[in-house]
Amino acid sequence: MKLKTYQQKELLDVIEGLSAVYDKVRLVEPEECREVKLNPDGTLSEGAPCFCAWNSSQRCVNCSSLRACRSLQKVEKNETFRDNQYHVMSVPVLVQLPDEEDPVRFVVECINRAQGVERMNLDGYGHHQSTAPDTDENGVQVNTGNALYDPLTGLKNWDGFYRSVRERMQAEPDQEWVIIVYDIMHFKMVNEIFGVSKGDEVLCRIGALIRSKIGPGEECARLESDRFSVLIRKEHFGDTFSISASREIPDLIDSPLFHVHIQAGVYFVRDKSLPVFAMCDRAKIALSMIKNKTHLKVSIFDEDLMRTIRHEQYVISEFERALKDGEFRMYLQPQVEKDGRVIGCEALARWVTPDGKIIPPGDFIGILERSELIVRLDRYIWDQAVKTLAAWSGTPMENLYISINISPKDFYYLDVFTYLEGLIEQYKVPRAKLKLEITESVVMRDALKQLALVNRLHEQGYDIEIDDFGKGYSSLSLLKDISADTIKIDKEFLRETDNDVKSEGILCSVLDLSERLNMRVITEGVETSKQLEKLIRLGCHTFQGYYFARPMSTDWFEEMFQECEGILTGTDVTVNGDSV
Ligand code: C2E
Ligand code: CA
Ligand code: CA
Repeated sequence: MKLKTYQQKELLDVIEGLSAVYDKVRLVEPEECREVKLNPDGTLSEGAPCFCAWNSSQRCVNCSSLRACRSLQKVEKNETFRDNQYHVMSVPVLVQLPDEEDPVRFVVECINRAQGVERMNLDGYGHHQSTAPDTDENGVQVNTGNALYDPLTGLKNWDGFYRSVRERMQAEPDQEWVIIVYDIMHFKMVNEIFGVSKGDEVLCRIGALIRSKIGPGEECARLESDRFSVLIRKEHFGDTFSISASREIPDLIDSPLFHVHIQAGVYFVRDKSLPVFAMCDRAKIALSMIKNKTHLKVSIFDEDLMRTIRHEQYVISEFERALKDGEFRMYLQPQVEKDGRVIGCEALARWVTPDGKIIPPGDFIGILERSELIVRLDRYIWDQAVKTLAAWSGTPMENLYISINISPKDFYYLDVFTYLEGLIEQYKVPRAKLKLEITESVVMRDALKQLALVNRLHEQGYDIEIDDFGKGYSSLSLLKDISADTIKIDKEFLRETDNDVKSEGILCSVLDLSERLNMRVITEGVETSKQLEKLIRLGCHTFQGYYFARPMSTDWFEEMFQECEGILTGTDVTVNGDSV
């Protein structure tokens, strides 16, 4: 469920409005089990532990606010207090605090005495009373027990940890703190291979090790299954942090095949008014960045990391909507012969937001590739490309081709062959006008199968281009196995380096090789006349680069093509007036 995000002032108004209807309305932070107050000046102050309101000595195990917070749904329950029945409604909300980039999750609790009874007497509210049992929705007594410790390791559990952290921070307000969350890598495998009792033993020994490392006034806990956490003083950080590199850890299991590895996510507490769970979340976010990277032991949360994650989440969550709303556009960048004659173009995606901002592919292609959404985008761009080719029939652009990018994921999640054939059939476009740009990574995995597919596309009449040649691990042996028509030399080759002689040598060899293999060569990233002259001298005939034109919308491309009558004259790219 998507929660509404309130500005602080807005939520204060809502609480005030609700107070006219309910006997008591309060804002709570259920993970820490405490009431919070939003002050009009933007600060946050802590109220009493919430369980006091219900006359119990610790957290109500049927806490509706905790359930609301976890399920992101409104939760209601009945509660008994001084022999009276109350109705509690817990509504999760997000609140944008002035100094925080991300909204923080709280719960609004609305409490009413059960119907037909006079207004709730709030005398006992907020004060610790003698214990009385909690009841569940059906009025059944539930055990409030000592729920602050983990019975397996004897360490505190998350509930105990959150509360102790709060207490420590209050007790020493000038102290700087660090929260670390530890995760045991592949812990499931320990249970599966060595059995649950071995798994329990590992957890206990790690728990004991962590406990042995923390100093007076510091805290440790087992948050959940194989996750531990500590609150330590900043100056103590170096020592405790060493847990994940501790020599004892890998030997916890006596097996040559399996070593225990621990990773740590670290959050240097910047804002002590944040709910403790939000602090732990930051440490967990840092941890998630190194998940499955066995060689990395520690990851420290910082704002850049947060921005990256926030951006990634934005792209993934907005993608479907943006695609549906037509925010993704196909841009075209001309490909020209050495005399400036435009012979075709490359289709490149752009994300144009409703406020006119253009998000470049570097900011979303990688994310979409990791999440497999790239397939949806590529299909859309390919559709646009084929439609455009069809629309150009009978116009001055009739002889141009369009190169489309094919991501490795397309080969895994899509029947590329059938899909392209469907487009060709639908729009009646000659296959040779649609060039397919693939990178070597397409055929890296499952090489035989992918090579067969690429070769089949080639036999069918599509032009195959090997993109980004020279970037990464291009192997010359690939050229022997793949039926490709064109090599696209990466712009990296044009970068001026200390090793110009060497890169010119490689460029010459690639051009020579392509000639022997009867392949066409395009060099991309041409920005200056100097680069162009050199490339022509070395024997390259086709170019793509800012020197001739940047990628542009289809309308603009068509206008440009007609205006220049298909011949572009280049201009050196300049930065602050200087030629680059
Ligand atoms: P690419 O396929 O290597 O595309 C060429 C990139 O070089 C484009 O970046 C283009 O704008 C840029 N470029 C061209 N001439 C110059 C130049 O003279 N100087 C410089 N500095 N750059 C130049 P762009 O449009 O930002 O695209 C980046 C990458 O994103 C593309 O690299 C491609 O890998 C990927 N991409 C873009 N659109 C799509 C798409 O629809 N599908 C897939 N799968 N990938 C796409
Ligand atoms: Ca490309
Ligand atoms: Ca390229």
